[in-house]
Amino acid sequence: MDIKENYFAVKKQLPENVQLVAVSKTHPVSEIQKVYDLGQKVFGENKVQELVEKYPLLPKDIQWHLIGHLQTNKVKYIASFVDTIQSVDSEKILLEINKEAAKHNRIINVLLQVKIAEEENKFGFEIAEAEILFQKYIDGKFPHIKITGLMGMATFTDNENQIRKEFTVLKTLFDQLSRSKPLQTLSMGMSDDFPVAIECGANSVRVGSAIFGKRDYSI
Ligand SMILES: *Cc1c(COP(=O)(O)O)cnc(C)c1O
Repeated sequence: MDIKENYFAVKKQLPENVQLVAVSKTHPVSEIQKVYDLGQKVFGENKVQELVEKYPLLPKDIQWHLIGHLQTNKVKYIASFVDTIQSVDSEKILLEINKEAAKHNRIINVLLQVKIAEEENKFGFEIAEAEILFQKYIDGKFPHIKITGLMGMATFTDNENQIRKEFTVLKTLFDQLSRSKPLQTLSMGMSDDFPVAIECGANSVRVGSAIFGKRDYSI
């Protein structure tokens, strides 16, 4: 399969209301350009440095999403152009994004990353922490940020019941928070589990290897 076939095979599985974030980490700009030329405008990268290197080489109407863990001292490198930071996992990083967005007179979209997996190595807020932070947001603490939704990663397992259970926890939180202030984006699902994520309520999926092929290293 080539990139074009892969891309349309993925697209075919997405209902119209589900956004595709094409995860291009580790892949060269030439491959990203190919997918862009097929009509894709939203891309995700997990490392600031890689994103900063690729950004100037690609069309300016790409919406870049950062999907990997972000350190406070790196926010300044992407604050002028990043569309959405999906991997907000502390109040400290949210304050820093707010500060850097203010410098550029922008509002940066963010998703709160919530820890739904059993695995210890996944970043994210506990549910109670996300609830508290969302209330601070509603109270106006982060004027240069728009919390547009939630992001989560399920456990890496073949056990579909467990994956479903974890995605459903995030969907429940999404609905609950949306009653205080409407959220738009529920980002869950990757190459191996995006169909299940959509069944569980995802309206945005982050798909890398199913489009670009295997990466040299695992995430
Ligand atoms: C790499 C990555 C993805 C995409 O993974 P694939 O299995 O290649 O689809 C999605 N989300 C995050 C946070 C990632 O780091």
